[in-house]
Amino acid sequence: MRNPERRRAARLAAGLVSIVLAAAVARPVVHVVRTALRERGFSKPTPVWGPTDVEDISRLSRTRVRTITTLPEDEAGAIEMLRRLLRDAKEQHLSVSIAGARHSMGGHTFTPDGVVVDMLPLRAMSLDDQRNLLHVQAGAKWRT
Ligand SMILES: Cc1cc2nc3c(=O)[nH]c(=O)nc-3n(C[C@H](O)[C@H](O)[C@H](O)COP(=O)(O)OP(=O)(O)OC[C@H]3O[C@@H](n4cnc5c(N)ncnc54)[C@H](O)[C@@H]3O)c2cc1C
Repeated sequence: MRNPERRRAARLAAGLVSIVLAAAVARPVVHVVRTALRERGFSKPTPVWGPTDVEDISRLSRTRVRTITTLPEDEAGAIEMLRRLLRDAKEQHLSVSIAGARHSMGGHTFTPDGVVVDMLPLRAMSLDDQRNLLHVQAGAKWRT
């Protein structure tokens, strides 16, 4: 008589434990699956430059600057442009900030009323196979 009662109690306890475990696991699993489905193909690119507004990927740091200069792809032209830009900024007492991919998420790449230099067009790479060194320009990203 006592054995069937014990077995029933054990089955009940096992059932309750299973329900509690299933409830504990189900919630995060449902959350992860729902998020994965909702955000399929979700990608937010870095905001494009405004005429004098800059922003980084955080989208929390929109800042008005004096000018945004995108360097040309060719190195000689870029160096020439940088020289001119730095000379002018010094004469006008303006801060110069350098922007790469703008993924640093804290407004690091711009100063209010300053001059921003967009380095992204400079993305060439060259391999020195004698010294096993890869030179990568400042605008190079994994993707491009
Ligand atoms: C979703 C996400 C995930 C991330 N995960 C990681 C991670 O796993 N590990 C990690 O380390 N980081 C991570 N980061 C941070 C981010 O990858 C780095 O901050 C980023 O690589 C910096 O490079 P950038 O070209 O975006 O620099 P920017 O944000 O453009 O610039 C960063 C700083 O460097 C200066 N700078 C830029 N270019 C030059 C240059 N040519 N010469 C001198 N100074 C320059 C800028 O003035 C600025 O102060 C993540 C960021 C995001 C948005």
